[in-house]
Amino acid sequence: MTSTETRTNGFADLKLIEPLLRAIKDQGYETPTPIQIKAIPPVLAGRDLLAAAQTGSGKTAGFALPLLQLLHERHKDKPRPGRVRALILTPTRELAAQVEESIDSCGRHLPLKSAVVFGGVGIQPQIEKLKRGVDVLVATPGRLLDLFGQGVVNFSDLSILVLDEADRMLDMGFIKRILKVLPADRQNLMFSATFAPEIRTLAGTFLTDPVSVDVSPKNAAAESVEQQVFRVDQSRKAELLSQMISKDDWRQVLIFTRTKHGANRLARKLEQDGITSAAIHGNKSQSARTKALADFKRGAVRALVATDIAARGLDIEQLPRVVNFELPNVPEDYVHRIGRTGRAGASGRAVSLVSGDEVSLLRAIERVLKRDLRGEIIEGFEPTPGEGAGKTPGGRSGGGQGGQHRRGGSGGGSNYSGPRNGGGRNGSSANRNGSSSGRNGSSAGRGGSPSGRSPGAGRVSRTADRY
Ligand code: AMP
Repeated sequence: MTSTETRTNGFADLKLIEPLLRAIKDQGYETPTPIQIKAIPPVLAGRDLLAAAQTGSGKTAGFALPLLQLLHERHKDKPRPGRVRALILTPTRELAAQVEESIDSCGRHLPLKSAVVFGGVGIQPQIEKLKRGVDVLVATPGRLLDLFGQGVVNFSDLSILVLDEADRMLDMGFIKRILKVLPADRQNLMFSATFAPEIRTLAGTFLTDPVSVDVSPKNAAAESVEQQVFRVDQSRKAELLSQMISKDDWRQVLIFTRTKHGANRLARKLEQDGITSAAIHGNKSQSARTKALADFKRGAVRALVATDIAARGLDIEQLPRVVNFELPNVPEDYVHRIGRTGRAGASGRAVSLVSGDEVSLLRAIERVLKRDLRGEIIEGFEPTPGEGAGKTPGGRSGGGQGGQHRRGGSGGGSNYSGPRNGGGRNGSSANRNGSSSGRNGSSAGRGGSPSGRSPGAGRVSRTADRY
């Protein structure tokens, strides 16, 4: 886009009303993002929308602004008790809370009422709010159906539906049940980062002649993020991570694990190493999730360890770093994960710790990204031969080079206080991939004669092998 285009595409040119322009200014937005430029006009024109937009693209304001404008222009009166005029469905509670905050900020100079409902917290305050009627309701599907079943919410006045991050609506059955109870005559907006076949099918069933908008050439989120891959045995990842956080003095890092137990274990291990940490995943109570996120956002907790489901859609301002403690099974999730950093044009860094059994996952990610992610090896953390190195294509990797150092490599355990080999246990149990990690875990457990070669000194990426 040329600078002239950028200038002429200011928010005012999008025909937004003054109270919204003021709210935009309050939030410090100067120019609309591409999704906002493309989505706002058709939504204001009452069209259905099918939008491919990555997290971090500014898509929330892209639907919040025109939606608020439409409601404001259509309704001079307050919503009737129990009625909802616009409904926004999100896949997770955190995202629901975040979207409602955005609605609240964008609508701060308009007399519209918004509310958010999701599970895991008391239902009674939500019922009280709904009874009074709301203009915009943000909801997760399960709780919404529960409230509908109790007869406390009525959709007869609904005119706009938004499905946010539709590709993450894990239970499409919920969505279909909700669609059935909404008035047929309504405007539908659907946002999704990817258009998997079932998403297209869903879109086909409920969108009418939609305007299609695609602002994210696949994986654009990845472009502003510097990506690094370190090859390391599964059993030593926790130790390496702990060392990176401490030595490089990372103040705020979001870490992804594959399992809830793995997240808990890693958070405990980091705490033991003196790094304030919290875990966030589906088994935690909603109050614990909210607290963990709030503590992390305000800097009271340095490391937030999350599973994919809990972390979906989180918007953490200026988050500098994301770590993939384990690679996701679905390559597209890698893009979502690293999209937590480098948001809205800021730079960010994503570090992936990749063990031998994850090499095929890494290659799948490379295929999706259409680029190579060169693996580096950190001195003192060379992967065990056979565990990872031997499995890399061509058999080349740090395995050969690191050979002579490797046995004593876990001298790194002496680098920070706290129990040794937390990583060893972590590796064997967090990893469901079978025997290789078991072997690995035990070798790390045995290793550890602190030789003269301090891995603490060795954050040296000596090898630029792929994988
Ligand atoms: P989203 O993709 O909706 O989660 O937005 C990502 C981040 O971009 C949020 O922190 C928004 O506050 C921010 N944002 C949205 N629109 C703009 C804009 N036009 N200019 C600058 N930042 C924005």
